[in-house]
Amino acid sequence: LNEHMPADKKRILANNNIKFYTIDAVALAKEIGLGGRINTIMQSAFFKLANIIPIDKAIEYMKGAIYKSYGKKGEDIVNMNYAAVEAGVNAVKEITIPADWATATDTQDADNGKPAFIKNVVDVINAQDGDSLPVSTFVDNDLVDGSFPLGTSKYEKRGIAVSIPEWHNEKCIGCNQCSYVCPHAIIRPFLLTDEEVAAAPAGMKTMTPKGKALEGYKLFMAVAALDCTGCGNCAQVCPAPEKALTMAPAETQDDQIACWEYVTALPHKENPMGKKTVIGSQFEQPLLEFSGACAGCGETPYAKLITQLFGDRMYIANATGCSSIWGNSAPATPYTTNHKGFGPAWANSLFEDNAEFGLGIYTGVAHQRDRLKGLCEQLIAGGAKEECANAAQAWIDTMDKGEESKATSAALAQTLSSCDCSNDDLKAIKDEILNNKEHLVAKSQWILGGDGWAYDIGYGGLDHVLASGENVNVLVFDTEVYSNTGGQASKSTPTGAIAKLAQAGKQVKKKDLAMMAMSYGYVYVAQIAMGADYNQCLKAITEAEAYPGPSLIIAYAPCINHGIKTGMGTAQAEMKKAVAAGYWQMFRFNPTLAEQGKNPFTLDSKEPTSDYKDYILSQVRYSSLKKLFPDRAEDLYSKSEAQAKEKYLMYTKFGKLFE
Ligand code: SF4
Ligand code: SF4
Ligand code: MG
Repeated sequence: LNEHMPADKKRILANNNIKFYTIDAVALAKEIGLGGRINTIMQSAFFKLANIIPIDKAIEYMKGAIYKSYGKKGEDIVNMNYAAVEAGVNAVKEITIPADWATATDTQDADNGKPAFIKNVVDVINAQDGDSLPVSTFVDNDLVDGSFPLGTSKYEKRGIAVSIPEWHNEKCIGCNQCSYVCPHAIIRPFLLTDEEVAAAPAGMKTMTPKGKALEGYKLFMAVAALDCTGCGNCAQVCPAPEKALTMAPAETQDDQIACWEYVTALPHKENPMGKKTVIGSQFEQPLLEFSGACAGCGETPYAKLITQLFGDRMYIANATGCSSIWGNSAPATPYTTNHKGFGPAWANSLFEDNAEFGLGIYTGVAHQRDRLKGLCEQLIAGGAKEECANAAQAWIDTMDKGEESKATSAALAQTLSSCDCSNDDLKAIKDEILNNKEHLVAKSQWILGGDGWAYDIGYGGLDHVLASGENVNVLVFDTEVYSNTGGQASKSTPTGAIAKLAQAGKQVKKKDLAMMAMSYGYVYVAQIAMGADYNQCLKAITEAEAYPGPSLIIAYAPCINHGIKTGMGTAQAEMKKAVAAGYWQMFRFNPTLAEQGKNPFTLDSKEPTSDYKDYILSQVRYSSLKKLFPDRAEDLYSKSEAQAKEKYLMYTKFGKLFE
């Protein structure tokens, strides 16, 4: 405690004669067999100390409640929870507060080279002292237009994980799957030269990655130890024959901090593999990192992957909901920038108009870019020098091609700024182009939100935007409930699932948003589930972005509201099970293929291979219905299963229509 407690907390305790207790609830829960569940232990510790009712009575009530809740689950579970009650009462330790805590001061330099914005604004707000900031602070920190700088979550260093992944270099097969699925962009592969390995902190081990493109490099799997949430998905998915990742107590992993700092400070390297494969995509810097999303979140891995593919030229319109909270809970911004200073531009609109908001941004940008095109045409027609005219034409030819437009935009800006134009008219055009050069690179417009937005409240607008034919990309994080407001049923909630406003299990079936969108014929539509098929997920996102019209991707996103019995550390495994059980269907509908005379529909899910009911009963949202209304449960479970089977059949037939 002496080492870890902040000085201001020590002073408060010492100067106010506060009684101070500790309990190692995590260790106790583990010992008892409750895994990470410390709530019962903490509750009984609370009753012991608070003394609001006699402790004997409190114990009696708590045990009574446990029997009522878990009685049907068997004696073992009941006894485990009884043991937790006893442990909470008996294991609290009173700490005698050392006299010198009254005048404690922090020895460490708290600044740690932080930028002024972090010190002057973020830290103050995080210390719950934002009210004290005068208006001048906002003026001085360039915040008058309401925008916030990107990439500030990396200064939070919350250190919340009890255990973090430990990488075993000699067992790793270099598949990068751990990095692909990590919801918080904590674990990342770095490629190092021999010189960089030689200069690395002591104890840093590497492996030799396979493949021609990676020849000459060593691979190090870095972990941002202080930002990890300890969810365990990385270790869970690791396919190495002898698991190359194990979850280890965070306090044994301090060495990883220096390694992370070392590799993230190395000069930027171009990705030798390109980003078209699962492995290659992970050599791109994630431009969404260290968000405050729940440990194991099923939403963030999708958004993170999109930033790795298009983040440096990406605009995001974000519906209110979980994705707007983890996406930007002021003062922390997890969207960040790359070595060139480019990153996603993000803004949040209301729940009911986010699709329109995104279309509005897109239309505004398209208008500005059309103007630039007109200016380039005037430049060419007006007799600009050959190199300027060529650069302008090359830009026009590629202006809508994301990656290609990066090079032609840079070349145009470079050529125009080094040209000493003597013609006043041409010079004015040239200056106008250069003053608007941020619009040169083709932008990737994304519209993000949850099912509460897309299926329900924002559906009218979403439909309108999809029908517009414009080149926008919509991604729905489908948690099948309004996650952020506490789990209310949406039109995405399937039959039989318990949610708020559907306490007796949802009676009617899940809306088929994908089918509705596919009926237009000119909308790219995909359903994906990352943990079930990494390649399909990457393919769908890449195809959607490349499609020059509207795209809709519906992504299955496990959520704490589902009550996954094996915990959120198995969120990725849960997606795999969902597809294997026929609960979730993966497919892609690509109108470009239809234009080429090919079948636009690809059903990526195989015939279900595992039991449907086993899958749904692995989640409390379904299993609790059985306890509450056994007869109704059986009926709704059967309906739900029949609906899933029908859906699979319908998609199979739908694909055949185009043959
Ligand atoms: Fe990422 Fe979770 Fe693994 Fe930490 S434990 S590195 S947050 S997947
Ligand atoms: Fe290595 Fe396992 Fe990560 Fe694959 S998932 S890169 S084998 S640690
Ligand atoms: Mg939702």
